[in-house]
Amino acid sequence: MLLGYNYFIMKDGFGRTIDYLRLSITDRCNLRCRYCMPDGIVSLPMSEILSIEEIIFTTRILAELGIKKIKITGGEPLVRKGCIQLIRMLKEIPGIEEVTLTTNGVLLSENLPALLDAGISAVNISLDTLDRDKYRLITGFDCLKEVLTSVDAALKSSIPVKINTVSVDWSSYDKNLNSKDNQTNPYEEIVKLVDFAADKEICVRFIEMMPLGLGKDFPGIPHSSLIPYLTDRYEGMTLDKEHRGNGPAVYYKIPGFTGNIGFISAVNGKFCESCNRIRLTTTGYLKTCLCYDKGVSLMDVIRSNATEEEKHDTIKKLMKDAIDTKPEMHCFEDTEKISEKHVMSSIGG
Ligand code: SAM
Ligand code: SF4
Repeated sequence: MLLGYNYFIMKDGFGRTIDYLRLSITDRCNLRCRYCMPDGIVSLPMSEILSIEEIIFTTRILAELGIKKIKITGGEPLVRKGCIQLIRMLKEIPGIEEVTLTTNGVLLSENLPALLDAGISAVNISLDTLDRDKYRLITGFDCLKEVLTSVDAALKSSIPVKINTVSVDWSSYDKNLNSKDNQTNPYEEIVKLVDFAADKEICVRFIEMMPLGLGKDFPGIPHSSLIPYLTDRYEGMTLDKEHRGNGPAVYYKIPGFTGNIGFISAVNGKFCESCNRIRLTTTGYLKTCLCYDKGVSLMDVIRSNATEEEKHDTIKKLMKDAIDTKPEMHCFEDTEKISEKHVMSSIGG
């Protein structure tokens, strides 16, 4: 349905509205999270990565098709030169209503004033633990202090702040990865992050570890057991039906808490019926479902000798065709069927 210039509503083959883009702008990162990008992962040469101009060219076409919201991801987006300038340019594209960022938070506080000036609408900060030693063991760097400074700075600004935590039973992966008092109870490690929302205007969201890339070797905590554990522990914890974001998270409120908590049950909860998203990777691949190596490579056309107009028309058609054949649902429960072989840092999560 065409509602006016640049206000197209894009539907996939199953009638779902596709209006949300996860845009990965780098495969590089300043951390080495064990489940995502441990030491040894080789970065792509910059010549194989979309330039800022190429990202803008491609995103403009996606906006014409109906993309309205963009989440900048990576790798770590804040290590990409030109990230802030890119956000400013994305915000100026007709039809783009919201540009948000997911970051590990290490470089956030120093970049926050410029990000706000560029028009960032919200930030998600990834944080898997509040314990300094455990943070260093998971990410490879002693940077918890910097991340917490960024959380504080973001909370003082006017934008919404979310924490994203993968729910992992770290103790069964490596016994050093639970604090001394909780050696055998992974749920109590999660409780510490729940309590982080007690006195802050923040949403702490738990994400089930997906069996993608290196994630398949990590013992996830299924939300089917985590949510009952927490509802038992926090009297009056109830579903918050009013609180909604762009994605599949289910939110809960806890009496007396300033913030709230959320669960993205990527593996055990099938929320594919309401999936609204596509992904553009650093190499110009339009990816239509996390689980599968399915989509279309746009790089050859972007870098061809065709005129801008020809490129525009060809890319638009390729995008439409790819979105039309977006898979109906993920297959995380049947790992044999997962055809995506890339690590998360190159997909963007
Ligand atoms: N560096 C940024 C950050 O950490 O937020 C953006 C990229 S990172 C790949 C995006 C998110 O994906 C992070 O919250 C990370 O914890 C999550 N992630 C990585 N591998 C995952 C997996 N196998 N399953 C679920 N989430 C994963
Ligand atoms: Fe880097 Fe984010 Fe992956 Fe951690 S999760 S290695 S911060 S890209």
